This record gives sequence, C-alpha cells and structure tokens, in this order.
Amino acid sequence: MEILKAYKYRIYPTKEQSIYLDRNFGAVRFLWNQFVASFNSFDKGPCLPQDEKIIKDLPQNDWMKNVISYALQQKRVDWVEYKKQFFNKKRKVKLGRPKFKSKGRSNDSFRIPVADGCAIRPKDISLETGRIKLPKMAAMKIVVDRKFNGKPKSVTVSKNKCNQYFVSILVEEELELKQNTGRSIGIDLGLKDLLIASSRMKISNPRWFRETQSKLKRAQQHLSRKQKSSNRYNKQRVKVAKIHQKIANQRNFVYHNLSTWLVSNYDTIIMEDLNVRGMVKNRKLSKSISDAAWSTLVEMIKYKATWYGKTFHQIDRFYPSSKTCSCCGHKLDSLELSVREWTCPSCNTYHDRDLNAAINIQNKGLDDLYGFKSDELADYRRREELSPEVAIPTASSLKRLVSFIDFYKTT
Ligand SMILES: [Zn+2]
Repeated sequence: MEILKAYKYRIYPTKEQSIYLDRNFGAVRFLWNQFVASFNSFDKGPCLPQDEKIIKDLPQNDWMKNVISYALQQKRVDWVEYKKQFFNKKRKVKLGRPKFKSKGRSNDSFRIPVADGCAIRPKDISLETGRIKLPKMAAMKIVVDRKFNGKPKSVTVSKNKCNQYFVSILVEEELELKQNTGRSIGIDLGLKDLLIASSRMKISNPRWFRETQSKLKRAQQHLSRKQKSSNRYNKQRVKVAKIHQKIANQRNFVYHNLSTWLVSNYDTIIMEDLNVRGMVKNRKLSKSISDAAWSTLVEMIKYKATWYGKTFHQIDRFYPSSKTCSCCGHKLDSLELSVREWTCPSCNTYHDRDLNAAINIQNKGLDDLYGFKSDELADYRRREELSPEVAIPTASSLKRLVSFIDFYKTT
C-alpha cells in the first residue's frame, strides 16, 4: 500500500538564514490573513475580491518580494482546498471559519512541493550528507535521526515557540503489511494505569506532566511577574514553551512506540469509543485525562492499524464494560468509580475492575466484528492461546520504553 508519511527533522539555520526563513513565514501568514479577510467580508457585499486579485495586490515591498514564490503559491493551493472542505456538505466534522494567524501566537510554517524541475528537487534533500537546500538559500544542516525510503512530495519548514526550526518531509512510501499473529486484544484506558489490556498486561501511566507540572508552574509564575514584551519576558516565554515542548516530545515518543508495538503484535485491537470531550468537562478528572492525552494515542493506533492491515474497532461507549462480569455475564446495577476490585455475586469470580473491563471490551468487539457466540468465543480464545506467545517486554520497540513505563502482568 502507498501511504504518505511525514518525517520531521530539526534544522540549524545560520542567523542570516533564520532571518530569511522568518520573512517567508511572515509573507505566507500575511497572504493567509488576506484570504481570511476577504472570506469574512463576504456578507458585506457581492464584490468579493478574487484570490488572483489578492495575489496581484500583494504589496511589492522588499519583505513581500524577496521570498520563495512557491511557498506563496502553495498557500493559495491550501486556501482553495480549505474553502472546498469548508463548503463540503458531506464532511462529518464541519470545519470552523478560517482564523487569522498572528505573529508569535500561531506556529509559523510554509510548505514547498518537491519535484524534478521544481523549487526543491529530490536531490536537494540529502540525508547521507545531512543537508537540505531550499530555494535562494545555501544548504542547511539537518539532524538525521531516522531515514526514509520513498519519494519526497513536499517540505514544510516550521518554527516552534521555542524558536527551533524544523523541516517536515512528506514522503510517499510503499508500506509492507505486518505479519498476522492470530491474536486480538481489548484495551481499557485508565487514569491510574495508562492502559489495561485483556492480555492481563497493565502499563502504568507515566506522569511526566505532573512531574514537570511544578517546574512549569514555577516558570509560568516567573513569566507573569515580567513586564510584557520586555526582553526578560520574551526569554522567559521561550523557557515556558520549552517545558511544554519537552512534555509533548516525551509523550509522542512513548505513544509512537506503544502504538507500533500493538499493531505489530495483534491483528485485532479493540477499544472503547471514548467521549473524551465530554469527559474533560468533568473538572476533577480533566487534568489526569489531558495528561494522558488519550485521544492522541487512540488516533495513532487507528491510523497505524490501517497502514499495516490490522483491524481497529471501537465498541459502543454505552456498553457497560466495567459492571458486567466477564466470566458469567452478570450485570451489576452500579459500580462506584472508587471500587477497584469486586466479586461477582452470581459466579463468585474475583475481578480487578480494569482488567475485567478490558476483557469485556475484547469480547464485545469480537462479537461486533465476527458475531461470536460465547462458546465459539471460548474456542477462539483457546486457539489464540495456542498461537505463538507475544513476547511482552522483549519486543525491541517497547524495550526502549521500559525506563519510562513500569509495566507488569497482573496475576
Ligand atoms: Zn460472574
């Protein structure tokens, strides 16, 4: 299967080059804002300025003229696509009205297509020598922490709030499907533990956010005491952004490894359809939930399952996975959130709350997907048990995580 995959690398422009890149960010932002302004003035009259006219009327001063024209052209293409999506009635999730981008508050970026005879040719990106050459610039050093095999389609240059520069190279790659393992897994996402799996595995939630929270809090307090837009304020602002960035990086590292490990080791991955938005409204829980950033993890598992030919399924969110006995199917009237362990009054099975939920999620999912009756399910499980044991901590991708995550098998 052909897929598009983005590879992001840190770049180190010289002082002069970073000024030039910043000018391009500014020009692209200016153009976008012109489009948005014309879009918003739609109600005011029928003479809507055309996109071409907006481009033609761009100020011909130095900062607008001396930029990479491909970046502006690409922005226009993106704008046309945005409008198409905005007016697309078939979209499930409606796009919001376009927003103005402001300097400093939005992440800066511009995109340039890659093709032979274009502004960036494939040979301008050289991972071997660790260099990338953009139009009108000398080659820049890129930090090559991983390589790609495939055809680069576009390059997005960006700058985050810590004033670090990156290139994200969109590559068309031929993906090999992962081997079938004959196994399925039900996953319950928790607060105390990040992930509880029907395979009796728990991965405890790495609480970097909490740990870094006090650090972040202190840094933010310092920031609030500084005078806005003073030199010291700006310096402190970058410090705060760096802490945020660190949290995001660690989180992505763990989630990427975890999701890859799951799709490599299981054919069918079943989770609950979480109404994360609704849950975050619950103030008490919200910090822990946004800390764990569940939806990010779910999205990763979802798209990787598609890439590698695995099945991802979400069961109905109203299915009572916690208060149903996974052994006999007895349903409790209620089960308080604080009750972590319980014994089934009907069959006397002792349950770990989360593990029981994970097993129910797996059963319900297999039933949704394949319509198993309970004795067939038992049979399926027996066959699953016979398929080669999935090595839990020895999978190399998860091995790298062990320092971050305590994970253990429940007994
Ligand atoms: Zn029972």
